[in-house]
Amino acid sequence: MIVLGIETSCDETAAAVVTDAREIRADVVLSQLDDHTPYGGVVPEIAARAHLEHLDGLIRRAMAEAGIGFGDLDAVAATGGPGLIGGVIVGVMTAKAIAAARNLPFVAVNHLEGHALTARLTDDVAFPYLLLLVSGGHCQLLVVEGVGRYRRLGTTIDDAVGEAFDKTAKLLGLGYPGGPLVEKAAARATDPGRFDLPRPLVGRPGCDFSFSGLKTAVRRHVEELAKASGAPLTDADRDDLAAAFQATVAEVMADRCARAIRRFKEEHPQGGALVVAGGVAANKTLRARLATLAAREGMPFVAPPLRLCTDNAAMIAWAGIERFRLGESDPLSFAPRPRWPLDPTAAPAIGRAG
Ligand code: ATP
Ligand code: MG
Ligand code: FE
Repeated sequence: MIVLGIETSCDETAAAVVTDAREIRADVVLSQLDDHTPYGGVVPEIAARAHLEHLDGLIRRAMAEAGIGFGDLDAVAATGGPGLIGGVIVGVMTAKAIAAARNLPFVAVNHLEGHALTARLTDDVAFPYLLLLVSGGHCQLLVVEGVGRYRRLGTTIDDAVGEAFDKTAKLLGLGYPGGPLVEKAAARATDPGRFDLPRPLVGRPGCDFSFSGLKTAVRRHVEELAKASGAPLTDADRDDLAAAFQATVAEVMADRCARAIRRFKEEHPQGGALVVAGGVAANKTLRARLATLAAREGMPFVAPPLRLCTDNAAMIAWAGIERFRLGESDPLSFAPRPRWPLDPTAAPAIGRAG
């Protein structure tokens, strides 16, 4: 089985060709970073227009790299939401057009399910598993019971963790997108223990997250340092603060995951892996901290390769394969969904879509 995947939910235009033998035959991603950098964040209208301009060419490139024609495909999968609706519409319409023209099944993939199932594309991960989903718009702990079967144990009560990285980077004058820039600055820190930041919800019951207090604490340090010196942040201040922020996030994550693991083990005594996914899963400090936790708990730990953590179309093609081989596909009347929670029974999350 060979499937074309399309991803257009945010500021990456992406196309990929993946097989059910877990072979990534092509995986092309075009970041719109330069289009959005002048605005310090993603501008939905610019994103939608850029997807429209680049998607057809990217699909042609992916097909050429995979060495196949449209007639070789078994299905076409596209992100159907959640995300910036203009972009999602571009991807869905394109996928539907190919499906209609070639008489192929169309699969509308939940972007979050794409992140959630990536570990099964790259590693031998069986259901059930415990998933920490950490991305630009989400921060959730979920029990993944099967394809389409997610149970949320916790979520953020304010900012998503990727959003916290992006806002902190802005406060530190590092630019956008914040995650990789904060990670680089933290690696340069000469006194990473210099700032002590609050650890929101650590030690408290439950598996929820909160990041707004942490971000406010960074802002206060930035303001105090500026007031004390009468000058902007020095490079050393900035790098030490970045390191403190990153270490605190990793510690918060480990605390929340430890609680979720307890619940997971009670419900599933036969065990399962701890999996991390989403853009923030590319963070090496976080990966190392979670690996240590999983080892202590006697659980396998799986983190996808860095390029499959941030948005890509291989994960969309793969989630499409997972659904399609269970006999699922969607009608061409499918309407793109700006909001589409993985666990519809959970209370709606505060903040961005999904
Ligand atoms: P969602 O998946 O929730 O819809 P999204 O698709 O915009 O949101 P992703 O592409 O999955 O988000 O992740 C992007 C986020 O990951 C950004 O907030 C970015 O700052 C963060 N990020 C990327 N690399 C790193 C890193 N190395 N360390 C920390 N954060 C990172
Ligand atoms: Mg992005
Ligand atoms: Fe994403």
